[in-house]
Amino acid sequence: MSTLFIVATPIGNLADISLRAITVLSNADLILAEDTRVTRTLLEHYNIKKELLSYHQHSGRGMIEKIISRLKQGQDIALVSDAGTPGINDPGNFLIQEILKEMPEIKVVAIPGANAAISALSISGFPTDKFTFLGFPPHKKGRQTFFRNIEDIAHTVVLYESKHRIIKALEQLKPLNRPLVVCRELTKQFETVYRGNVEEILLRLQGNNLLGEFVFVVGPKQKKKKTDEE
Ligand code: SAM
Repeated sequence: MSTLFIVATPIGNLADISLRAITVLSNADLILAEDTRVTRTLLEHYNIKKELLSYHQHSGRGMIEKIISRLKQGQDIALVSDAGTPGINDPGNFLIQEILKEMPEIKVVAIPGANAAISALSISGFPTDKFTFLGFPPHKKGRQTFFRNIEDIAHTVVLYESKHRIIKALEQLKPLNRPLVVCRELTKQFETVYRGNVEEILLRLQGNNLLGEFVFVVGPKQKKKKTDEE
């Protein structure tokens, strides 16, 4: 019986990969990568020589059929994305769904590892017993509502944002008046963590060349202080 491995890879620092991930990638019959060039760098670093095929959000039915046929032949397949955990704002979920439809008995095995949202959350200092992950805000339509709706989430909120919209996102978070942690380039050479309220972080970021990758962690809603009369 074949196995589909969902393998987490580093989010920047090539050392952030598990021994098990290296073993699974080395033993797989085929590795499915979001971008084969990105994954080739990782595989070369660990001296892994394997057949590599591209599977991404625009891969059509033909590619899915090809993958299912290889699994039906008894081959083990490993799915990786460009960075972090496949399926978390990355291709994977739909593929797993389609494979399970045709092969409900197949083993789908998680090889856990890096994830940008959880890494940011883990250093935020905010309560993590309950949190909401919102992924990327929409670029245009629905963006205002996306940020306005955070008001209704009293606990910690994690979101991803593209470098092109960092200042815009901060401006849109301002009315919420919540503490914030912005994690930039986690695990990489220029890793920076900005903590404070939105105004303070805006001051530090405005006018900067905003390169890199970002995770926002919005702290919980502040409880209103009781006045003497209450
Ligand atoms: N699957 C990935 C994961 O497990 O974290 C997420 C993929 S999503 C397409 C890419 C986004 O994740 C980036 O735009 C950024 O918001 C966040 N991200 C990825 N790597 C990061 C890093 N090293 N530092 C900060 N954010 C990162």
